[in-house]
Amino acid sequence: MEQTLSIIKPDAVKKGVIGKIVDRFESNGLRVAAMKKMQLDAKKAGDFYAVHAERPFYGELVEFMTSGPVVVMVLEGEGAMAKNRDLMGATNPKEAAKGTIRADFADSIDANAVHGSDSVENAANEIKFFFSKEEIV
Ligand code: ATP
Ligand code: MG
Repeated sequence: MEQTLSIIKPDAVKKGVIGKIVDRFESNGLRVAAMKKMQLDAKKAGDFYAVHAERPFYGELVEFMTSGPVVVMVLEGEGAMAKNRDLMGATNPKEAAKGTIRADFADSIDANAVHGSDSVENAANEIKFFFSKEEIV
């Protein structure tokens, strides 16, 4: 079964909408195969978003991702990667389709509520970055 990585970002955790976001996944055929709440440090967040290291918003992105705890999950289901991206909506919540997680819970392009892997290959690497085999059930 296909797996993807999801992160509920610090803005959504602070708002107290972890349950509402997880409900979107579970109500749409995605199963939570692993889940943990954690505080990222600059090293962990910086390494996670290393592909964006040269982008002008990298510093702010790392600062935001370390501004409070996150919830990291492995989601599993048929076409899990693309399904999660559909449920999330566009990166900028102002452009996100109605009824998507970002349209409903995000405030800005920085504080955009969730992360989701953008390819099946990246998903496998991101899952390994956060979880050991024993933590995925
Ligand atoms: P994520 O990787 O977090 O799931 P995404 O795949 O929709 O989001 P990316 O292009 O991978 O978008 O950008 C990673 C994150 O960097 C975005 O979620 C957003 O918070 C931030 N970001 C992207 N573009 C900008 C921008 N132009 N200005 C500020 N922040 C941005
Ligand atoms: Mg991305």
